[in-house]
Amino acid sequence: MHRVAIVGAGFGGLSAARALAGQPVEVTIIDQRNFHTFQPLLYEVATAGLDSGDVAYPIRAIFGRADNITFRFATVTGVDWDRREILLRDTHSLPFDSVIVASGATAKFFGIPGASGYSYPLYTLTDARSLRDHVLRQLEDVDAHPEMAAEGAITFVVVGGGPTGVEVAGALAELLDVAVRHDGFRFDRAAERIILVDGLGRLLTPFKESAASYAATTLEGRGVELKLGHMVKAVTASHVEFDDGTQIPTRTVIWAGGVTVEGTVASQLGAATGQNGRLVVGTDLSLPGHDGAYGVGDAAAVLWGPDPADSDRICPQVAQVAIQSGGHAARQILNRIEGRPVEPFRYQDKGIMATIGRRAAITQFRNGTVMRGTLGWLAWLALHLLYLIGYRNKIIVLVNWSWRYLSWGSGPRVIVGEVVDEPEEELDAGGPGRDRPPG
Ligand SMILES: Cc1cc2nc3c(=O)[nH]c(=O)nc-3n(C[C@H](O)[C@H](O)[C@H](O)COP(=O)(O)OP(=O)(O)OC[C@H]3O[C@@H](n4cnc5c(N)ncnc54)[C@H](O)[C@@H]3O)c2cc1C
Repeated sequence: MHRVAIVGAGFGGLSAARALAGQPVEVTIIDQRNFHTFQPLLYEVATAGLDSGDVAYPIRAIFGRADNITFRFATVTGVDWDRREILLRDTHSLPFDSVIVASGATAKFFGIPGASGYSYPLYTLTDARSLRDHVLRQLEDVDAHPEMAAEGAITFVVVGGGPTGVEVAGALAELLDVAVRHDGFRFDRAAERIILVDGLGRLLTPFKESAASYAATTLEGRGVELKLGHMVKAVTASHVEFDDGTQIPTRTVIWAGGVTVEGTVASQLGAATGQNGRLVVGTDLSLPGHDGAYGVGDAAAVLWGPDPADSDRICPQVAQVAIQSGGHAARQILNRIEGRPVEPFRYQDKGIMATIGRRAAITQFRNGTVMRGTLGWLAWLALHLLYLIGYRNKIIVLVNWSWRYLSWGSGPRVIVGEVVDEPEEELDAGGPGRDRPPG
């Protein structure tokens, strides 16, 4: 039986495995986590709107009934192309005939001093949980010691004006509101600040100007300050510094400033890589020079289509690209096994979406039409429910959202992690954030 290894159980890896379920191949899906993460809703976990389990799903439960699919809980460290084996951190290896690399990306800090050590990225479930704990801890601190507001305890700086930054900033504004109105926090609301920063002069660059200015006006209406056209120059445990020399005291810098494949396993395979470490792939998504190997999703520089007009147009790192490219790579493996010609990948653009918060979202369709406000928000809710994995999660998230919409007050505003206070000198010496584990 032809053996297919799939590295990563994100949108790309799951889509590939689904296309191979029930086919005459033996599939092993390998992931360093035993669950799939629904990244588009991580910001809700980080801002105490949803719980961790609502946006994660055990990989084994997805494929438990598929006889030809097995799961291996392991970290991939590389590929031995001569022996055709996947190398695992536990020193074992896994032989393959075909491999699909769907290992995703990671947060990019652009070498900004202090950014990786002191800011809070939002890429994994662990990131989202530690950010939630940290934010709630700031609220507790300032409630007990109001003077801490002047030290930046309730100043939240969000770096990156793309969809994730906009979503986090909007959700933080709602969280602060709920904290005071429902949880009895007594901090001075005039002292709270949410600052959304982007080096470009506008938010949401993939969206039309009108959609971006709607997002900007809505955020400002909800108390978010926009600092556009400015770059972060340095992050420390106590403040953030900008390129105009301004320093803002804060303990919370949330990093939504971009992603890279550099430093991930995809960049360590000995395969050709391009900008941001993304794997170079052919029009059929195969890795040049590596027979039977494919790159999909965030990890790969997936071309929009084979037509000359699209030949240097690289797809964005979004869920739809991962889903479509994962399924395509799997189908090419079957084509090759069955002696059929391979087909080029063509991205079917279904439009883009971003939410700003309650009853405010933007949906931009492929033809450029923009739907915004409550309608855009309902479309955003429906689509996220549709793609969320598992019926239990869909139902829980729907109930959660409906309840929150009706009552405002609900949400898992719990600090789960243990907090270890560290001496000030260690923080000044560039150690990890106050209540954040290193790394
Ligand atoms: C906060 C956030 C919000 C987003 N919101 C949206 C949105 O609203 N709409 C949208 O379309 N897109 C959104 N995206 C982008 C979207 O989530 C990604 O494009 C998509 O998840 C990419 O899927 P993937 O399968 O390529 O990679 P991933 O989903 O990242 O999956 C990669 C998998 O590989 C595993 N892995 C990595 N390295 C190893 C290793 N060495 N060994 C074993 N396993 C490994 C990981 O554990 C992970 O499970 C968002 C991303 C983030 C971070």
